[in-house]
Amino acid sequence: MLSDPKSTDRQPAHSASTAAVHAGEAREKPGHSITDPIFAASTYTFASTQAIIDFLEQGIDREEYGRYGNPSERVVERKIAAIEGGEEAVVFASGMAALVGLLMAHTSAGDEIVFFDECYHRSREFCRKHLSRFGVGFKEVTTCDYDAMERAIGPKTRFLVSESPTNPHMSVVDVERFAAIGRRHGVFTLIDATLCTPFNMRPLEVGVDFVLHSATKYLGGHNDLLAGVVIGDGKKLESVRNLRGIMGGINSPHNAYLLERGLKTFPLRMERHNANGLAVARFLESHPKVERVFYPGLESHPYHEVARRTMRGYGGLVTFLLKDADWKRAARVVDAVKIPRIGPSLGGVESLIEQPMVMSYWNYTPEERARFRIPDSMIRIACGIEDSADLVADLAQALEAA
Ligand SMILES: *Cc1c(COP(=O)(O)O)cnc(C)c1O
Repeated sequence: MLSDPKSTDRQPAHSASTAAVHAGEAREKPGHSITDPIFAASTYTFASTQAIIDFLEQGIDREEYGRYGNPSERVVERKIAAIEGGEEAVVFASGMAALVGLLMAHTSAGDEIVFFDECYHRSREFCRKHLSRFGVGFKEVTTCDYDAMERAIGPKTRFLVSESPTNPHMSVVDVERFAAIGRRHGVFTLIDATLCTPFNMRPLEVGVDFVLHSATKYLGGHNDLLAGVVIGDGKKLESVRNLRGIMGGINSPHNAYLLERGLKTFPLRMERHNANGLAVARFLESHPKVERVFYPGLESHPYHEVARRTMRGYGGLVTFLLKDADWKRAARVVDAVKIPRIGPSLGGVESLIEQPMVMSYWNYTPEERARFRIPDSMIRIACGIEDSADLVADLAQALEAA
């Protein structure tokens, strides 16, 4: 079973599969090649002094120097913009480079950013420890507490930031409500949509200003590259692209090609990630040794109704708590699986498993872990595109170890 069409209310009108294969590419390519060439150039040459002057004065569309752009990157930007339903996309060297680039381009000393508190800890750390040094304020409110977010907005607020779903708790933000708050107060809204991907939700359609992805995850999809992307209105991205040209956070032509290649199968892969996530979540929920499963596709999930209303599928990430288990017992399950590899990240063809308490919160105090709601018995599986039944059987045998 690849997907259950009755499990959701909304099907995006766009044809993601056709866009993934063809969008952004020239129909006729150099050498009559069906695939895009990789232009492994750090600089681009001019035929004469007059050609430089024409380029500068007439805004001729061509490359100049590799830090400002390269043809491979531009193809992948057009393709991602088409898949996401946005006007433009700017690709960066990583998801974090994209976040840093976007926030730095659009904030100045005295401005403020409001986050939902389940956002990726490095994103919040960037604002708390670094952007603050340049006088940009930072507030966090409880995830999905829309009233608290609205109360946190002041005259200097510039951005509202959230992820959806969040990691590892899989809280689903009502993006329409989130976008409406931003519009009401004239504040930019940003959704880090890495976990839902444009296959499962397209936040720009409901009025969110910027969508950001760690393309390292589902968009690249093969655990073989780092990339990040911001999608939105071309005008609002102009300063983001200009700042990228100065900061140098562009990706390499080789990586851009790998990302383009990965994107061709993105919708196909997402069908399997969604199916595997749901199958694994349902299996875990029915298992006597499992206390709780966090997966928005389950009726038991606190945000299931929002997820049904706004998402097409629920992705490959499944988090669960082992019943009456300390961290060592949970580690026995992690160590006993035979298919998923132990490691951070998600969204690639290979399934990955980890214990957040060990992988991401080992150097935190028990009090801090309690505040972040990371119990010792928590395990996170990022389902790849293997066979559902094989993954379920593997987890069944691993749970025997607990
Ligand atoms: C991985 C991730 C990031 C960071 O992306 P990198 O490509 O690793 O820099 C940001 N947000 C979310 C939700 C992520 O999963």
